[in-house]
Amino acid sequence: MQPITSSTPPPRPFHAMAKPSGSDCNLDCTYCFYLEKESLYPGERKRRMQDNVLTAYVRNYIESHPAGSEVVFTWQGGEPTLPGLDFYRRAVAQQRFRAGRTISYSFQTNGLLLDDAWCGFFAEHDFLIGLSLDGPADIHDTYRVSAGGQPTHALVMRALGKLQAHRVRYNVLACVNRRGAAEPLRVYEFMRTHGISHIQFIPVVERLSGAADRAIGLTLHGPGGKVLAPALPGATGSVTGWSVLPADYGDLLNAIFDAWVRRDVGEIHVMNFEWALANYMGEPGAACHHQPTCGRAVVVEHNGDVYACDHYVYPAYRLGNLSTSSLAKMVESPAQHAFGQDKLQSLPRQCRECKMLKGCWGGCPKHRFTATQDCEPGLIYLCEGYYRFFGHVAPYLAPCPT
Ligand code: SF4
Ligand code: SF4
Repeated sequence: MQPITSSTPPPRPFHAMAKPSGSDCNLDCTYCFYLEKESLYPGERKRRMQDNVLTAYVRNYIESHPAGSEVVFTWQGGEPTLPGLDFYRRAVAQQRFRAGRTISYSFQTNGLLLDDAWCGFFAEHDFLIGLSLDGPADIHDTYRVSAGGQPTHALVMRALGKLQAHRVRYNVLACVNRRGAAEPLRVYEFMRTHGISHIQFIPVVERLSGAADRAIGLTLHGPGGKVLAPALPGATGSVTGWSVLPADYGDLLNAIFDAWVRRDVGEIHVMNFEWALANYMGEPGAACHHQPTCGRAVVVEHNGDVYACDHYVYPAYRLGNLSTSSLAKMVESPAQHAFGQDKLQSLPRQCRECKMLKGCWGGCPKHRFTATQDCEPGLIYLCEGYYRFFGHVAPYLAPCPT
């Protein structure tokens, strides 16, 4: 392996999400957008991060942060438990490279393999766990199924119990699909009654056909204005049957907000509401899709390849490999800078003139594949839902942006 050339840490913080098993997963969720990524590495039957890549990643990531800062190692998939617990024991042991940084960990899992050993390890090292759970069994099991199509809800609930028993910090990531969106309060009450205090509701949006294999909705410019990856032309709203309908997503958030604001403020933390509050208060902390620009959260694949973002793991958005290049340099590269700026610069006029702009910021470019009222392409599919949600919560979250 070549030595990594030293590089000045970026002036602004950034975040890396590592995928130690690539797109490999022990589930076959209908709506998963990452399973298709196995086509990026067709020669490999089983994708796993090797120890030399792990060592390079730990060192590179830490050295890309200035002394005194916090370095958050986020493990994601696919399913990140697949490499086994010893892999993470080795990862944590490599903290010896920390040199004055604070190290913390987060881990996004479907929960199937979590047992006392895993949860004891998470508790010992204060991991923050993201557990995927869509709600009650009939809703969760509609799409979150095993490779054989078997339900998984009972296994996830067992994992939840283990996390709670070991007092592991966790939050629940609930994917909002067309089924779950029909019963927002049932989903929310289910979370409440099971003692879940941190939740985020993530919209499921997937386009039909091969469109997902290509860069969507965003024109990426390189040095000198050269187009590196063109946006898909124009405006079609064709999505899979499990994708949430835009208005339904807004209505779900509003129904849950109304229940939450009357009874659960300070007890339950719904991240969607906290992101809105952060934006309305002019504070940092909103999710990337509700910030003006993005591009500060790169993905590290199992072989060390680095991509612009979890939503853009496509060849045109590969920034390099961490075994030969500094993460700091890749994050500060012109291509990645352009990627982040295009989120703002490609906003259609309807967004730029929208009363909800400072809460919404137009959402994620990956989902900007519909047209505005005056037929300008590049509007996010979820616009109607976002407009309903930010319009509904604005009066509660002073100062109001309208
Ligand atoms: S492309 Fe979308 S998911 Fe990726 S960083 Fe930007 S807003 Fe976030
Ligand atoms: S609500 Fe719609 S029009 Fe307004 S900023 Fe968001 S996506 Fe754009």
